[in-house]
Amino acid sequence: NSLKRVDAHLSSLGYCTRSEAKRFLTTNNVSVYNERIFDVTKKVHHSEIRVNGELLDAERLVILMNKPHGVVCSHSDSGVLIYSLLPPRWQRRNPKVSTIGRLDIDTTGAILLSDDGALNHKLTSPKSEVTKIYEVTLAQALRGDEAEIFASGELLLNGEKKPLLPAKMEVIGPIHVRVEICEGRYHQVKRMFASVGNRVTALHRASFGDFSVEDLKPSEFREISL
Ligand code: URA
Repeated sequence: NSLKRVDAHLSSLGYCTRSEAKRFLTTNNVSVYNERIFDVTKKVHHSEIRVNGELLDAERLVILMNKPHGVVCSHSDSGVLIYSLLPPRWQRRNPKVSTIGRLDIDTTGAILLSDDGALNHKLTSPKSEVTKIYEVTLAQALRGDEAEIFASGELLLNGEKKPLLPAKMEVIGPIHVRVEICEGRYHQVKRMFASVGNRVTALHRASFGDFSVEDLKPSEFREISL
């Protein structure tokens, strides 16, 4: 619940830019304890401010989204950025809202987004071992030895020196499996299946840690506390 200038609160949360703040205060009812504010330099606590009667957005944002197919987890790529699915105000926040790790453009499902850099770092660090569950569709029927190979803790992906940690694979059908991994190496699931002579044709992350996207349609999101 930080104490800072009204214009600093409003601009970091994306309500307006610093230079627009003066005008924002004339065109919106920004108040503290029911007293309207017109001075952008006034120092106030985050929790005390209301804009047109509503409390400000949270100072720290953590979002769970069901990423749709075809959007990219990047701030700079060409194509449709995942951030364009967020409310404009959240897109303007500073620090920026970023994805916690990435999903490929053709992967769907659970992804967290946050403006908390330390959280992002913590959850994506190789030491964090967050469990991720993927539903995988394959080009070819299973051979039969995949689960054992993935569980071995000895699988070396092409070009890497360190074997993958053991992963669980559950067979759903001839070309459908569920895979549980606790790492997040580059294109990991696709490369795991490439290493056993197969190819992933569709990939959906059902959950990231405790967070499942069962209740979210593609592109839907909700704030979570973490
Ligand atoms: N593994 C992949 O290959 N792609 C993803 O998007 C996530 C995990």
